[in-house]
Amino acid sequence: MAHEDYKEMLAAHALSALDTAEVRELEAHLQSCAGCRKQLSEWEETASGLAFVSLEARPLEPSRQLRGRILEAIRADAKAWGVSKEVKDGHRPQQASNVVPLKRPGTWSFPQTWSAIAAGLVLVGLVAALFVLWQQNREARRDLELVSEQVRQAQEQLAQQQEIIEMMAAHGTHRSELAGTKVMPGSHAMLAYDKDGRAILMAKGLPPPPAGKEYQLWFIAGGKPMPGKSFITDASGAVTLKDQIPPQARNAAVFAITLEPRGGVQSPTGEMYLISPS
Ligand SMILES: [Zn+2]
Repeated sequence: MAHEDYKEMLAAHALSALDTAEVRELEAHLQSCAGCRKQLSEWEETASGLAFVSLEARPLEPSRQLRGRILEAIRADAKAWGVSKEVKDGHRPQQASNVVPLKRPGTWSFPQTWSAIAAGLVLVGLVAALFVLWQQNREARRDLELVSEQVRQAQEQLAQQQEIIEMMAAHGTHRSELAGTKVMPGSHAMLAYDKDGRAILMAKGLPPPPAGKEYQLWFIAGGKPMPGKSFITDASGAVTLKDQIPPQARNAAVFAITLEPRGGVQSPTGEMYLISPS
């Protein structure tokens, strides 16, 4: 083999993609060729850079497997073409037991096969780099989604608090205090509502309701209870609820909270937990 042939093998050697016989042959040439030695060290630098990229990627498996598969495919090709070259040149193949039948007749020469390997290695490098970028991008996107969700929740809470403050400060806002009955003496609630009937109920001291049950708000006008929304409380026994008070119940009404089947009912069936003074 000539210097040019060996030169084409250097990239594959740098990535340990040559077989033992090829390595022996190339190393013999390297003893006497300073040009090939210099180029090999350059390829080795590239190869270690590639390994560094692969190590930096946190989940290694996909890129490593892909790299292995590509190298395998390249080596299979190289073997086939290598045999073809040796047969064409009239030399006896070095490892008779390893002869791979030529699958694809073609016009590529032996050095071109090594060029294909070099191109394949560049592809491996690009795929590895792409994988790292894709991975980093995916993690960044996940972090971003998490933060966005937290921001969204914080904004929602802030908007609700602002709404409460605005309503409490608005001219003509009514406020009604609800005290716990003997069923739940420690509970307390406040209902604020404006002239249009927009209401906010803030309650505390109400333990989370038993399974299948919910609390329900009632607007009682002229002794007739009108249903409000049903709700559950949080782990601390508190709730903030928005509702709309019907026109008939906006003046001289009594407000109450009872325990009802989940989803609420049209007229009260359960025990009364809280009530405003009449
Ligand atoms: Zn050389």
